[in-house]
Amino acid sequence: MSDATHNQGPHAHGDHRALFAAHGLRCTRQRQVVYAALAGSREHPTAEAIYDAVKGCAEAGDGTISLATVYNTLETLTQRGLCRKLATPGGPTRFDAITDEHAHVVAPDGSLVDLPEDLSDRVMAGVRNPELIAEIEKRLGVKVGRISIHLSAQEAAE
Ligand SMILES: [Zn+2]
Repeated sequence: MSDATHNQGPHAHGDHRALFAAHGLRCTRQRQVVYAALAGSREHPTAEAIYDAVKGCAEAGDGTISLATVYNTLETLTQRGLCRKLATPGGPTRFDAITDEHAHVVAPDGSLVDLPEDLSDRVMAGVRNPELIAEIEKRLGVKVGRISIHLSAQEAAE
């Protein structure tokens, strides 16, 4: 899977200042460091994994960044729409800097991978069927918002 699998826009590389501003968020050093670690990973890291990645980082302020800070920062970034929080069945909460809708596969070891874009598009299109959505909304009396799809993979049978 290449980085071009999903369009992350102009913030995929480097300066996040404009991106943060667009989301009404002050660009603090800690937010910048946490976001960069998340956006630079294709592995849907947990808060702990991000903490491990940034705790020795000089830019984070010589080890002054705590796990609690990472949690709080991820919470803020999620609330402002800069990343998504992904709950996996029976697993830890993971984070995704790619905020457009795409389908995931949960591997048997609990890791989470993006479905290749063409396959993801086909899966999402199947669910994003306007007639289907309209019927769901009518019958359940709800408004469908974001759609999250996780396919749970099993070990392939030999
Ligand atoms: Zn993803």
